[in-house]
Amino acid sequence: MLTVVKEPKENALAVRLIGTIEEDVNFAQLIGEVPGELHVNTKEVSRISSHGVRQWVRYFDDLASRGVRIKHVACSVAVVQQLSLIVNFISDPSGIESICVPYLCAQCKGQFVSVIRVKHLLKIHEKIPSAACPKCGKGEAIFDDLESEYFNFLRRLKP
Ligand SMILES: [Zn+2]
Repeated sequence: MLTVVKEPKENALAVRLIGTIEEDVNFAQLIGEVPGELHVNTKEVSRISSHGVRQWVRYFDDLASRGVRIKHVACSVAVVQQLSLIVNFISDPSGIESICVPYLCAQCKGQFVSVIRVKHLLKIHEKIPSAACPKCGKGEAIFDDLESEYFNFLRRLKP
């Protein structure tokens, strides 16, 4: 089930997608009228099924073909995984502003995500620095995936 929280801005519509994206998702109905620009925050999207991927691609390709500028914000781990697997999942990757990066704490084994801007990722050459664990407060957390796979989508960005 997907929930959409809409936050209209001056010349754009910002939406937060929450939940899972599956076969029965109807983006056009959930998001409604879109002005010239759409900001999509997927931080709380936990899963996308293969049918959900098809609905996603169809919806966003249609918007892009109508000239809507699409900005993707805080792409969740589920979204980033699709990005790396499916070349046209987001047809214009330059519209990706930031993504969620998964961390694992060495001390408490707690997992959490941190939102990092794509511009910053390119600057640090995907070398994700360790972070203080917000769960136990004393552990050092490190990036919990494979850089070469997780950041695969960055190769499609033109410098
Ligand atoms: Zn910890």
